[in-house]
Amino acid sequence: MEVKNCKECKRLFNYIGGPRLCPDCKAKLEEKFLEVKRFIEDNKNAPIAVVSEEMNVSVQQINQWVREERLIFAEGSAVVLDCENCGAPIRTGRFCEKCKGEMVNRLGGIYHKHEESVRKEGKEKARMRFLDN
Ligand SMILES: [Zn+2]
Ligand SMILES: [Zn+2]
Repeated sequence: MEVKNCKECKRLFNYIGGPRLCPDCKAKLEEKFLEVKRFIEDNKNAPIAVVSEEMNVSVQQINQWVREERLIFAEGSAVVLDCENCGAPIRTGRFCEKCKGEMVNRLGGIYHKHEESVRKEGKEKARMRFLDN
């Protein structure tokens, strides 16, 4: 186990990975997250800069929550993020629906191929049954 300084309160704590925050600050951050989430639900059109100022959280922290898909900005909100793949405007996460779809399709392609071979096998079995008769 490693002992590190909490980047928030500078206290020493047993570091177990993830953000360099002591358990107290982690809990505080979690509370902050819920507050910010509520604030965004009530102020759907608030830009990140305003949320940051009102809630006393860094823009960086808000962006991180958005990238983790924990915060979602409503349709029509002033907040716009870029898809990391094609740069299209998105509301949450890292990729737009189109890029997400393409990624799923790529994975799906492997699945379909597998399905096809299963289907072919099935047909062959059916034919064999036919020959048996
Ligand atoms: Zn701390
Ligand atoms: Zn995209």
